[in-house]
Amino acid sequence: MPDALALPAILDLPPAAARERLEAWVAQRQLPRYRVDQLVRRLWQAPVAAWTNATELPVALRAELDQELPLTRLALDVVEQSADGTRKYLWRLPDGEAIESVLIPSGSRRTLCISSQAGCALKCAFCATGTMGFRRNLSPFEIAGQVREIVLATPDDKPTNVVYMGMGEPLLNWPAVDTSLTVLNDPLGFGIGARHITVSTVGILPGMAAFAQRPEQFRLAISLHAPNDAQRAGIMPIQKKYPLSDVLSAAEAFRRRVTFEYVMIAGVNDADADADLLISYARRLGAFVNILPLHPGGAPGLVPTPVHRIRAFAARLRSAGVEAAVRRSRGLDINAACGQLKVEMERKRRAVRN
Ligand code: SAH
Repeated sequence: MPDALALPAILDLPPAAARERLEAWVAQRQLPRYRVDQLVRRLWQAPVAAWTNATELPVALRAELDQELPLTRLALDVVEQSADGTRKYLWRLPDGEAIESVLIPSGSRRTLCISSQAGCALKCAFCATGTMGFRRNLSPFEIAGQVREIVLATPDDKPTNVVYMGMGEPLLNWPAVDTSLTVLNDPLGFGIGARHITVSTVGILPGMAAFAQRPEQFRLAISLHAPNDAQRAGIMPIQKKYPLSDVLSAAEAFRRRVTFEYVMIAGVNDADADADLLISYARRLGAFVNILPLHPGGAPGLVPTPVHRIRAFAARLRSAGVEAAVRRSRGLDINAACGQLKVEMERKRRAVRN
């Protein structure tokens, strides 16, 4: 008998590998082959909380599965619903770490923002997650499981779109993110179209190269946030390791349309001259620009650019032929910006302790 504990959990495998594992398991017990399809369906497509809930299977088989191939879970710690429909989930991991997901409904779309790491090492000046430092990488299941838990709770809430814009830097956890992308996209997994899945990065060059090797049409978003090296170094320490010019060249080599993300911070990156440099990059790459109003709370000392100034900045981009959208800040009443719920919870806990 192989030592089951030495193998990755069944939900940490890409669906095709999980299927192979289940085929071997079914063959070993001389069960009918159709069981394999029944079991694979319960991993991601029509998930169950535990095998015991898969009522199409004999009771004894369910018990054996729960024993030998347990379905891992994320424990829901807190869920908060914003007046605008945005929902924020805080998951507690077995070792006590916590991560967040945010579900953002918009018409017939439901976009889920997922975390790829507990904490983050990058310390971008405007980001709440950066203040807690890096805790650890998430496993493939801990990433794709954020989608699974939401489908488990309410199948109709299944996200139509997924963005890796929660806690952490996905391209610093490439092996697990790589597997999780397969789980999200594979028809044996969630079957979400690659064009509806976006990986957001500050521009980790080796990770960008690995991501570019994937044949699917996954989307890439680059957190630019400043139009030149000096300004970027002021708010994003990663600039020293991976300078803006190299990140732009890597994005060019990606050979697919990329999105630039640009958080607008008063007096830091919102001048006309900043817009003009951003225009030159966006034109060179044919990039789409997402303008994000700074979510307050993540960044003491930084002030959001006033709305009229954001509009003027966006208008300048558009009049130069650059496609740009100003994102509405969603879930402001529930601190739905990256890392804010976790930070808020810690603050409350500290307040209770003191
Ligand atoms: N590490 C990755 C993904 C996580 S952050 C990355 O940086 O792209 C996802 C997006 O949220 C990034 O564009 C980030 O800059 C943005 N963000 C972080 N803090 C923010 C804040 N306070 N207000 C608005 N956007 C913020």
